[in-house]
Amino acid sequence: MLEDISIPTPQEQLRFLKQIQTILQSGSFTSTYKFALLISLSRLAIEQGVDTGECLTLDYLDIAEKFIDLYWWQARPYQFNEQAPFVLQQSTGPQASIVNLVLAAQEKFKTLAAARQNAAEWLKLKKAVAGTVKRMPVVYLQNLNGQSIEFLYHLDASAHHLQLLPKVMYCLRQFSEIIEELCQKRWVDFVRENKNNLPVLDGLPDLNAFLFAPTRNQLGKVADFLMDLQQCRCFYCNQSLKNKKVAVDHFIPWSLYPADTGHNFVLADNTCNAQKSNFLASENYLEQWQARNYQHDSLITAELSSQGFLADIRRSHHVASWAYQQARDNNYLLWEGGKSTRFASWMCA
Ligand SMILES: [Zn+2]
Repeated sequence: MLEDISIPTPQEQLRFLKQIQTILQSGSFTSTYKFALLISLSRLAIEQGVDTGECLTLDYLDIAEKFIDLYWWQARPYQFNEQAPFVLQQSTGPQASIVNLVLAAQEKFKTLAAARQNAAEWLKLKKAVAGTVKRMPVVYLQNLNGQSIEFLYHLDASAHHLQLLPKVMYCLRQFSEIIEELCQKRWVDFVRENKNNLPVLDGLPDLNAFLFAPTRNQLGKVADFLMDLQQCRCFYCNQSLKNKKVAVDHFIPWSLYPADTGHNFVLADNTCNAQKSNFLASENYLEQWQARNYQHDSLITAELSSQGFLADIRRSHHVASWAYQQARDNNYLLWEGGKSTRFASWMCA
């Protein structure tokens, strides 16, 4: 029998959103795993999926990698006032075991980059995290007061993969920004309200930034690399960057897709960077960016993965085609360079 790959109807899409909302509002949360799982599924649907109603099959190791990305930053000691650094508690009971796994890895490796580069240890870590993901949030996410509402996937304890139900991939891609924001907000609330974090409750105003802000401090080396790659010119206006303040720009804006992927970085002067802000750049820049990535793929992959970023041209371009499709479907404003920000031509067609 042929699989029905038609996209969900508006009613089905609304029902999906409603169910996400129900899970986040009425589910019980003893740790932050469920938020991490929803965020991971939605990011993987963008990276690995397409805009159809098909099922998407996800490897537990890929889900585990997303978990490690999320928790690596959050497991750093949180510094506040004059008190001693404190590792935020991600569970109402003893510390969440994935945080402990990450902390153990941090004792061996100073950076996420170094951990990722040690293939054997990285695989071991991913397997351990995958085991917990499979036993815990995957089992409980769709459970509401003992009632199962399976709308994302069917539970199959024997499988090595997690297969999303038909139309779920589409909805995750369509509503990823809403899902990210809802999950991040609930995650911050959970950490803030968790009595185990009482010792640092005073220092929590910037908790959101600590938990989810992009990793700007790491980008110095990326800037050096891009300076050479772009021959000291701004990616957008092509003017010389000599003696100018520069910024590493997320070509697909962080606000649309809050994860660092190597091919997504470009170097811009501060003026262009500030003007582009949270906008997508117009399609001529998209072509320019793709061409750059094809031309320098092996160099970008080698350098940025050695700096610890996920660098995979296929995934980055997948994210981009998702983002531009979203822009077309939803009439996003695009930044056209210079000072103008207006609807791109396709909007008028
Ligand atoms: Zn510029």
